[in-house]
Amino acid sequence: MVGMRWQWRIYEEPLREPLATAQGVWRSRRGILLRLEDDDGHLGYGEIAPLPGWGSETLADDLALCRRLPNRLTPAIMAAIPETLAAARFGFSTAWQSVGQLPYRLRPWPICALLGRGRAALEQWQQPWRQGHTIFKWKVGVLSPEEEQGILKALLAALPQGAKLRLDANGGWDVTTAERWLDWLERHGNGRIEYVEQPLPPAQWQALLTLAHRVTTPIALDESVVRASELQRWLERGWPGLFVIKPALFGSPDRLSLLLRQGLEPQRLVFSSALEGAIARTAIFQLFETWQPCRALGFGVERWRSVPLLTSLADYSAEWHRLDNYGKIYYN
Ligand code: MG
Repeated sequence: MVGMRWQWRIYEEPLREPLATAQGVWRSRRGILLRLEDDDGHLGYGEIAPLPGWGSETLADDLALCRRLPNRLTPAIMAAIPETLAAARFGFSTAWQSVGQLPYRLRPWPICALLGRGRAALEQWQQPWRQGHTIFKWKVGVLSPEEEQGILKALLAALPQGAKLRLDANGGWDVTTAERWLDWLERHGNGRIEYVEQPLPPAQWQALLTLAHRVTTPIALDESVVRASELQRWLERGWPGLFVIKPALFGSPDRLSLLLRQGLEPQRLVFSSALEGAIARTAIFQLFETWQPCRALGFGVERWRSVPLLTSLADYSAEWHRLDNYGKIYYN
């Protein structure tokens, strides 16, 4: 018979500690787990982990999709999932690819260490440095530019040779502040700033383009490029900088693989977590075998969610059942 049977279930997992975001404090992460089975009994797993606060569809959108899909999946059915349901496209696509392929054999990749906001950064780089991290991320736009530049000066003086910093403004600067900050970095960065992430809000796309063409410090788009269609648009606009890709929210991974084959330089991509669970993370690490990340991964999220890579079919089965207290099973 054509296609595969499938089941889905909702999960909700409390975060290990609350995460303060621009949308408020997040205490748990919800998503949908998928289990596919072909007619030979081979299993595959996927995870839909939308995060509307970070620009994806809502969980309700994905639940409505799961409820209306037929009880056998085919490639044509999955191809018809709307582009706007990008997290669902990721979940179904990776689930389909995994059938009969699990468990994956995966390599570890260098991970960027996240430093606390403000002065906390000055005490927090040492431990990850001793563990082998060389790339650190620090949030800016939290204190005044003068205070943050004072802390950054001390941080740059303290960091050993070989360490580099990513500064993430989360779209929180205005144009004047961004220009002043980037001028400051050109004078004081000493080549130690890997890039500045999302200096302006996504709506100010023309100002972002102007800024990126004016300065030598690389600029990465994050909030601006959640879905594949947005990445495509920024490529057409001639964006000269980097892109932060959260694969779980991006859409079908084939879109990114195609863009890479068509010449998108892998050095321009930074892969980052959307606090997805172990099934999605393992699928993403499998994709890294194709995508070959050139930059440290933004997957240092253990503080909020502990996410092991799954290395056996038993791991997948355990993950499917782990959140039974929060989950609901839907049989198709
Ligand atoms: Mg960011």
